[in-house]
Amino acid sequence: MTDRIADIWGMRTPHAAGTPWPVRVDEYVEPGVPVDEVGWVRSACVLCSNGCGMDIGVHSGRIVGVRGRADDRVNHGRLGPKGLFGWQANNSPDRLTEPLVRRDGRLQPATWDEAMDLVVARTRQVLADSGSLGMGFYNSGQLFLEDYYTLALVVRGGIGTPHLDGNTRLCTATSDFALKESFGTDGAPAR
Ligand code: SF4
Repeated sequence: MTDRIADIWGMRTPHAAGTPWPVRVDEYVEPGVPVDEVGWVRSACVLCSNGCGMDIGVHSGRIVGVRGRADDRVNHGRLGPKGLFGWQANNSPDRLTEPLVRRDGRLQPATWDEAMDLVVARTRQVLADSGSLGMGFYNSGQLFLEDYYTLALVVRGGIGTPHLDGNTRLCTATSDFALKESFGTDGAPAR
């Protein structure tokens, strides 16, 4: 496999106008895992708003790799560096499994009740001190329609601040631009 950090886009597949976009199936499986024992589950990459078709490779009950899907009309098998490698964070021992609260300048484990009580108390404090315009929300670009709708209701209708934006504004600005050029909107619904 080519070094997709140095060669971000991978092998080019030029084609003439009006001809089908050639298939190029990208795949990455953890070194040492027997590829013929990997089970593949149909899914999609959700790391940006493109939604490339992706199969998730499973072995011994954990994710061990991903591959594109030739018949997917979004990417015809291609996966970018985020799609190819981002899933490895799921297997990291550094992945957070419990809330952390900063006490005396250090992040320390806390219960969910303690963490949520802290969020509520700080939110009330900001609202009391600065009003609704003191609040801002920077949310994921990978929510479902119902999530966005609920978020918009709570933030704009409930709290009353217009300061609501999704991470697509920054981390996938290039796809935002392309989506705006093509469809007049940057992808995430219910904004
Ligand atoms: S462009 Fe990359 S990050 Fe976005 S959905 Fe496709 S593989 Fe995932």
